[in-house]
Amino acid sequence: MKQGKMKYVLVSGGVVSGLGKGVTASSIGLILKACGLRVTCIKIDPYLNTDAGTMSPFEHGEVFVLDDGGEVDLDLGNYERFLDIKLTRDNNITTGKIYQSVLDKERRGDYLGKTVQVVPHVTDAIQEWIERVAAIPVDGKDGSPDVCVIELGGTIGDFESMPFTEALSQFSVRVGASNFCLIHVSLVPVLNVVGEQKTKPTQHSVRALRNLGLTPHILACRSTTELDDNVIDKLSQFCNVAVENIITLYDVSNIWRVPLLLKEQRAHEAILKVLNLSGVTNKSSLEGWTSRANLCDRLHIPVRVAMVGKYTGLSDSYLSVLKALLHASVACHRKLTVDWVPASDLEDETKKESPKDYKAAWNLLKGADAVLVPGGFGDRGVEGKILAANYARENKIPYLGICLGMQISVVEFARSVLGLEDANSTEFDPETPNPCVIFMPEGSKTHMGGTMRLGSRRTYFQVKDCKSAKLYGNRSFIDERHRHRYEVNPDMVPQLEKAGLLFTGKDETGQRMEIIELPTHPYYVGVQFHPEFTSRPGRPSALFVGLIAAACGQLDILLRKSESKSFGFISRSGGSAITPYQNGHSLKHANNLIDGIYSHGNGNGLHV
Ligand code: GLN
Repeated sequence: MKQGKMKYVLVSGGVVSGLGKGVTASSIGLILKACGLRVTCIKIDPYLNTDAGTMSPFEHGEVFVLDDGGEVDLDLGNYERFLDIKLTRDNNITTGKIYQSVLDKERRGDYLGKTVQVVPHVTDAIQEWIERVAAIPVDGKDGSPDVCVIELGGTIGDFESMPFTEALSQFSVRVGASNFCLIHVSLVPVLNVVGEQKTKPTQHSVRALRNLGLTPHILACRSTTELDDNVIDKLSQFCNVAVENIITLYDVSNIWRVPLLLKEQRAHEAILKVLNLSGVTNKSSLEGWTSRANLCDRLHIPVRVAMVGKYTGLSDSYLSVLKALLHASVACHRKLTVDWVPASDLEDETKKESPKDYKAAWNLLKGADAVLVPGGFGDRGVEGKILAANYARENKIPYLGICLGMQISVVEFARSVLGLEDANSTEFDPETPNPCVIFMPEGSKTHMGGTMRLGSRRTYFQVKDCKSAKLYGNRSFIDERHRHRYEVNPDMVPQLEKAGLLFTGKDETGQRMEIIELPTHPYYVGVQFHPEFTSRPGRPSALFVGLIAAACGQLDILLRKSESKSFGFISRSGGSAITPYQNGHSLKHANNLIDGIYSHGNGNGLHV
């Protein structure tokens, strides 16, 4: 589109939380992108924390990490995955950040003796922040994006969102009618007794929205089934929204169908009309998404992955890892099953206290085709994770250790192979005589949130002939995101390498260990970084593909293809399951998979 005025699409939520507002906002961004628009996103979180860095993932879901080291709400992960963009820390606005900027200004005397107030000073700060951040290019191209999707966290009417709703109401006037579109995501519950779709909660939340000075142009109604025509008519009449602008987001088989659902109901046309962009854009095309959503529903050969972590019932705490596993499984044509193994249940103590849980945990681990130990903080379950790493190593089960998952596998190796029984990370045993993982911060040692090595850092491959280098397409370096304080002790590296644990990736100084591999194992890889944050639906993370491919007997062909880089078909025999490589359709898949993983010649590492 020719560069014009920035267009804003605000997504608010009503009635209840947990409606999938983030996925809806990302999907809206995607259907607009599919029309040829350049889209960016802003997430507003009305809480007081400056960022998500100090928040428990078991309460709020995972802390998502950006290239610039921003520790942000997990919805930014959804945006990055859906829109294939790279956001900045400022794309996540919190009350804490806004007040901090206002108070800093006040201390500098910038308000020239005025009384500093929520209106206009805080509300102005919010609007200025939005305008500034919306202009930042996020798709690797120069120039401002065309559209900024703003997701307002929380539910309309929340006390703590008031400064934001007031600011956004003012903002809609400031940017002008044809530059602002408000989509309200609401719930239409179905009462079991009569099976009737009830519109009253939506009516009330739209009324609350109007009272705050915000007028919805489009209603996106979550419901279990499609809305009946008379229900749509009623909503239209009582909420003052045109019938064609009422969209139903009914339950679908996988989240990749949400953008398709919006497109089918012509949500993009409704938005473009409000924004006065009809005719300016291309026809929306979502071919890749359609075929992936269909493929995902058709998959039936399972691959079981044991996730050994702190399990508290909230799978959102490992959201990006789950997404990366899903991307890789779909790429390998396997139906993903994740078995949650609470790490502490693998420990001897549980055997004594709760033998049933102990048995259940070990049964899950032993039934898995692959083992993944994700990142984590704190010592609960660490010994259980070490036991899982030991089990995977000794039984040659494909293993991927991420951050803490890599650190504990080094501890395990030092204990079992080097015979250093008391080897440990100083995070868990500060006095250990064999500290194989030590505190190596880049920043301050005293301030919470300031001590971490955060964001994108470069890893250089040390050898060509290793699985990770091949999976990353034989590049000499890669850039991946980090979030940690501790690292493998460089002084112990020679000893570990002599015993067979190879450090195949290091930073530019050679002092920070980034990737470990056991060449004698089918797939035993540990990484200090978090590859899950850059995995995309159509471009799965290389090391996750390696894990899943190893778990279902496809790794050899993948590595051979990488070696030859011919991407031609290599026939494969053996194995009872029908692999994707055994028929014509599947041949195309094999090549797509390889192309998908290797097509990242942006000179900036392999961003998968
Ligand atoms: N707790 C470990 C560290 O700080 C691992 C962190 C992580 O897994 N993200 O280094």
